Amino acid sequence: MQIIPQDIRLDAITTDLISIPVFNSRQIQVELLRLDKIHPLISGNKWFKLQYYLRQAKAENKKRLITFGGAWSNHIIATAAACHFYNLPCTGIIRGEEPSSLSPVLTAAKSLGMELCFISRTNYAAEQMPPELNQPDHLIVPAGGYGITGATGAADILHHCNDKQSYTHFGCAIGTGTMMAGLLKAKEKHQQVTGISVMRNNHTLENEMKELLPDCPPEYSLHHDYHFGGYAKYTDELIHFMNEWYRQTGIPTDFVYTGKLMYAISDLAAKDHFPTGSKLLLIHSGGLTGNASLGKGTLIF
Ligand SMILES: *Cc1c(COP(=O)(O)O)cnc(C)c1O
Repeated sequence: MQIIPQDIRLDAITTDLISIPVFNSRQIQVELLRLDKIHPLISGNKWFKLQYYLRQAKAENKKRLITFGGAWSNHIIATAAACHFYNLPCTGIIRGEEPSSLSPVLTAAKSLGMELCFISRTNYAAEQMPPELNQPDHLIVPAGGYGITGATGAADILHHCNDKQSYTHFGCAIGTGTMMAGLLKAKEKHQQVTGISVMRNNHTLENEMKELLPDCPPEYSLHHDYHFGGYAKYTDELIHFMNEWYRQTGIPTDFVYTGKLMYAISDLAAKDHFPTGSKLLLIHSGGLTGNASLGKGTLIF
């Protein structure tokens, strides 16, 4: 993974029209909000979720940001890059024993200055912080940026489309539900949010999302059948779909989140889930660095 110091380019965000038969034949207009273009490492929704945590750290004069994630976490790499950018020391508490060779994500995070602290899976699951890191002048950011601060940041995503009013649906992939909570916060009454969970049987998701949004509007649907085996799992069918999507649109997706989102939305459209005349905005939430864990030649992009 190449590390290029580069500004976060919100002006690089585009809305791309997706003209493919499954949508065209049903007269559904689909656009993709390209948050993947803002930065090679701090990609997609991770910047939006982090922005107010970083602001809070500065305002409260915190000396260090502490966060959590796995060895392939998009949140870890984005946090390392964002803290580097903001000159804020940071520590990543990483799930599992220290491996003999670091994943590309952890290698990059480390070279961006993040200190890595490995804890056992049991302690990680119990959210047990090493006591020396639990200090008043440290800002603790939950895994994935989950929290009201993260959702407030994610609500800003919709400032970056041209004609927010005109959409009938917003679509996103879901991990923690923070981005979806943000979209629900930002949308208007006549608009629906379609969320695709990338985990298997994540039954607590809906409550976790609502915790970020006490006045959660009812106009949303959550779909749990597009996980392809579970978090970060994939099948040949998904890989084939991602390659085909790239051939037809020229837009790369990642196998953990956005590939599953595009597959699900195409499948739902084919099953006439969206009425004729719908106008969808799908969030391309980035995450492309995760594709580095696939074997060479798996993807054509
Ligand atoms: C983290 C991530 C998500 C999930 O966002 P949540 O707010 O945790 O639901 C979706 N897409 C990509 C590419 C991500 O990296």
